[in-house]
Amino acid sequence: MFRSLVAASLLVAASPLVSQVHHSPLVDPKVAALRDAALEGDHYAWDITEGLTTEIGPRLAGTDDEARAREWAVKKLTAMGFSNVRVETFEMPTWVRGRESARIIAPFPQPMAVAALGNSGSTGPEGVSGEIVAFDSVDALRVAPDEIVRGKIVFVDHAMPANQDGSGYGQFGSPRRQGPTLASKKGALGIVVRSIGTDHHRTPHTGSMSFTEGATPIPAGALSNPDADQLLRILKRGLPVKMHLVLESQNLGKRQSGNVIAEVPGRDPTLPPILVSGHLDSWDQGTGAIDDATGVAIAAAAAKRIMDAGRPLRTIRIVWFGAEEVGLLGGQDYRTKHGKEPHYALIESDFGADKIWKVDSKLGEARKSEAEAIGKALAPLGIVTGSFNEAEGSDIGPMLGDGHPGVTLNQDGTRYFDIHHTADDTLDKVDPAQLRQNVAAWTTVVAILSGGIEEPKRGKRR
Ligand SMILES: [Zn+2]
Repeated sequence: MFRSLVAASLLVAASPLVSQVHHSPLVDPKVAALRDAALEGDHYAWDITEGLTTEIGPRLAGTDDEARAREWAVKKLTAMGFSNVRVETFEMPTWVRGRESARIIAPFPQPMAVAALGNSGSTGPEGVSGEIVAFDSVDALRVAPDEIVRGKIVFVDHAMPANQDGSGYGQFGSPRRQGPTLASKKGALGIVVRSIGTDHHRTPHTGSMSFTEGATPIPAGALSNPDADQLLRILKRGLPVKMHLVLESQNLGKRQSGNVIAEVPGRDPTLPPILVSGHLDSWDQGTGAIDDATGVAIAAAAAKRIMDAGRPLRTIRIVWFGAEEVGLLGGQDYRTKHGKEPHYALIESDFGADKIWKVDSKLGEARKSEAEAIGKALAPLGIVTGSFNEAEGSDIGPMLGDGHPGVTLNQDGTRYFDIHHTADDTLDKVDPAQLRQNVAAWTTVVAILSGGIEEPKRGKRR
């Protein structure tokens, strides 16, 4: 639908016939023009995504790779013409992956594809061998008597579905999030979970986890989905199943991470800024294309398009958070340093770059008309208006919880968890046309929230 409208508007000059398509008077024509130009021709988001994934690649929080990503980001944002480009650093405990492998040693010897979960304990170079004890859920593991778990390698299954809103991740992610602590407290030798993912490839999905309630770290990994299926078939034969597991993870102690910040200064610097964000760090196996190079790219591209059009009334603050994957640490640091300052709205992109299908907002009753204007302006992009009392985001979540206003542009997550946190999170998974639709939606929202853009004076560039 939106394609035909855009095509129509482009043809206006060429053919008087299509001028019969009238646009909604409820949408500011300047906002509509910015939206349509982004949809047609944005290249900023692709440039950033391609540059970051190619020139930096994986950038695990706390590592030298993430530090190089910050340097890259500062150079890139400066070159794009943003102001007040800076890094706010913080210290964090740093975990890194080592050599890893899994092998069924009885009754049917064969290798399995495994990836250590973040914060996994180490098996040491020799690895560990143990009998598998399997559970269909974290609940089954929770109620199991310690005797059947002690000294064994726990396997936890689940049946996460793929769906548009990604809602399976919260519920079906529990084997990864809670399984390791439960298994450790029951005396398990180690744990492997079915990957928290929706694909059928031998690419295991990593992800963060932490040993809580004083649990001792044990080796904890994820099997790829086909390997989890295979393990279940082997278990069904009714014979004892033994696995040899090698996960040589390491803790490097405290290292530095940081948030990269840049701004489009508003005409009135006393007004609260609009925060547009994504996270700069990624997992260590792929190149972090959909998680979350596209997110930082979309946020910066929208800000750049507003800057190109003139000067917004309110400051637009770009934040590329560090250390999101390992525990939302960049968001916490920003909240500690700036959480008490007023913000006009918080927005984050961290769900890939497939088409945005719904907008939710939480701007408050007094700003209902602003929220409605956003919905009207996004409609031609095929975006439905959802809640007026809801906004979310990983890094910005705690600040939204504190009561800061926010907007959420929900991407289609149907294929997101096929790729998420795997070695397959690479640039080829990004669809340039859908990426542009994201930038168009973000540009629209930021243009409305900006309080009006004043065009640069003729003959004088800012
Ligand atoms: Zn992410």
